[in-house]
Amino acid sequence: MSSGKGHILFGLICIFGSIFLISNYFFKPTIQDIVFYIVVGLLFALWPDVDTKSIGQKVFYTMFLIMDVYLIWKQEFRTAAYFGLIIILPVLAKHRGWTHSRLAMIIVPLPILLYPIWQTGTPDFSNLPLYAIAVTGYFSHLLIDGKIF
Ligand SMILES: [Zn+2]
Repeated sequence: MSSGKGHILFGLICIFGSIFLISNYFFKPTIQDIVFYIVVGLLFALWPDVDTKSIGQKVFYTMFLIMDVYLIWKQEFRTAAYFGLIIILPVLAKHRGWTHSRLAMIIVPLPILLYPIWQTGTPDFSNLPLYAIAVTGYFSHLLIDGKIF
């Protein structure tokens, strides 16, 4: 069990560890890449608590609201309706339910990895480091909550 601040702090430690590994063994990310990795990693460190009143829920539902207003403004009503349907799912689930599973840790960040493949139609795994950081952030949350072992 931990507060949002605990998840942010431990998430940062894990994210910096991953960035250290990536930059020493795989490639040198730019400062811009590193900042982006930290933001994405922290979002995934907060994501699992979207199912309860938390910092993560405030952050994500604010982002969801902005996205939904944008979709409505663009008159993408069908997309807005499906988006609204999907974003309500976490709050209907019990706290520490599916958002706190190891399977969700792998699947929820998967669009990050698959988006370039879908966009280009080629096996483009250029987002693999970002996906690794997202899973790291998610992992840090589940580890503190005692949901990994
Ligand atoms: Zn949690």
